[in-house]
Amino acid sequence: MLPDKHNGRKLCGGKVGTLKSVSDRVIEVVGKGFERLQSCEEYHAGVLNGLREADLRVYELLTREYERLQSSLQLIAAENQCSRAVLAALGSVIQNKTTEGFVGARYHGGCEVVDDVETLAVSRARDAFGARYANVQPHSGTAANQIVLTALLEPGEKILSLGLDQGGHLSHGARVSFSGKFFDVANYYVDRETFLLDYDAIRAKAVQLRPKLIICGTSAYSRAIDFERFREIADEAGAYLMADISHIAGLVMAGAHQSPVDYAHFTTTSTYKPGGPRGGLIVMGKDYDRKIKAGGKTVALWEHIEKTTFPGVQGTPYLNNVAGKAVFFKEALSDEYRARQFKIIENAKRLAEELVDLGYDVLTGGTDNHMVLINVGNFKEGLTGAIAQRRLEECGIVVNMNRLPYDTKSSAITSGVRLGTPIVTKNGMGDKEMDEVAVLVDAVLKGVKIISDGEYEIDESLKNETRDRVKELCRRFPMR
Ligand SMILES: *Cc1c(COP(=O)(O)O)cnc(C)c1O
Repeated sequence: MLPDKHNGRKLCGGKVGTLKSVSDRVIEVVGKGFERLQSCEEYHAGVLNGLREADLRVYELLTREYERLQSSLQLIAAENQCSRAVLAALGSVIQNKTTEGFVGARYHGGCEVVDDVETLAVSRARDAFGARYANVQPHSGTAANQIVLTALLEPGEKILSLGLDQGGHLSHGARVSFSGKFFDVANYYVDRETFLLDYDAIRAKAVQLRPKLIICGTSAYSRAIDFERFREIADEAGAYLMADISHIAGLVMAGAHQSPVDYAHFTTTSTYKPGGPRGGLIVMGKDYDRKIKAGGKTVALWEHIEKTTFPGVQGTPYLNNVAGKAVFFKEALSDEYRARQFKIIENAKRLAEELVDLGYDVLTGGTDNHMVLINVGNFKEGLTGAIAQRRLEECGIVVNMNRLPYDTKSSAITSGVRLGTPIVTKNGMGDKEMDEVAVLVDAVLKGVKIISDGEYEIDESLKNETRDRVKELCRRFPMR
């Protein structure tokens, strides 16, 4: 079935042969020895076997990665674990389709199925976020941001965003990123004492600088963000507002965090962080239809975003990822998913409390979301984020070092470690296990003997004992 007319544009149409006539024709052409076409299920059931037969090397790497995931604790706040249903969509023949443009305005033939796939993904994304418009084509969170920045700004125009080392993101204007290379970027900061966003200071800066775009949303900030306040500031400064909710998109969909969708002009996110396939998304709320002058014409913001997606920034969308997004947004609308988002926060709060009790300097004293930031430099003389990460990893606890606001250490060393609870929660862990995780982390960090800057010693027996305890914990809560 062809989708409805998309935003008033005509659909590309054409007759489609029935499945029967197609399969008859294939048998005719292939001839003897090929009795019948494999069903879709049979074809895809051969996916893993096909890999094993064709490329044992990659098959073994995949097996190793699976075993790593099943035997170590995944506590990276930016990671999640998609369902097998999403994996199936990713590894399907839909990946073969090439198309450019949007539903109803494609540049290739044979789009009747992927048009339905994209229409479904868009409609579910809109439902999941309560949005008026959704664009499921961005290849990644970074690409989603690149599309919005390219749509709004001429080279050299002004952006105001949270600095990278303050908890922002590379694609918000860091000098090493396209976003810092082409635009004039100024940063706002968190408060030096509380490590919280200081909205009065942000307002003062915005009003003084009058940027064309303000970016909010973070990759390392464990407290709630007031998107409503950001919009007031943007309005006062005459700026557009982009909310990048990559880290908290799941919480937002579930209502466990204030939604920016009707406050920001553009809301962007990666789709793997909330637990979907790799990829990005742009959604828009009440401003989706607002007019903007672009290329001498006046168009709606959403239309301008589509033109900038293709041909502006990207070529053909990854349609298997779009299919994976459709599956994921259906999951995100389920009671199980929504309840889990609240549990993710509960687990993070518990982990933070336990670490505070064990003597750790948890930034802001706790968390409102899925992440816990700790200053390990304050825990032990000479301990750095880099040492903590390596040492924990050797013991089967996977975390990442993180530069903290006003950190005196470089980004390759850091004073901080960031922990996240999405994956352990997905696999069923709760309060008791969070206490256990805190105790394991503590045993490892207490046990590190710092020899000199960057050098440290490992006590083999502690390492082996921790590894065993981690494995035992993982065995009780295997990947779901
Ligand atoms: C992870 C992240 C991104 C980037 O997403 P990718 O899909 O990895 O490109 C963008 N913004 C924020 C705030 C993020 O945390």
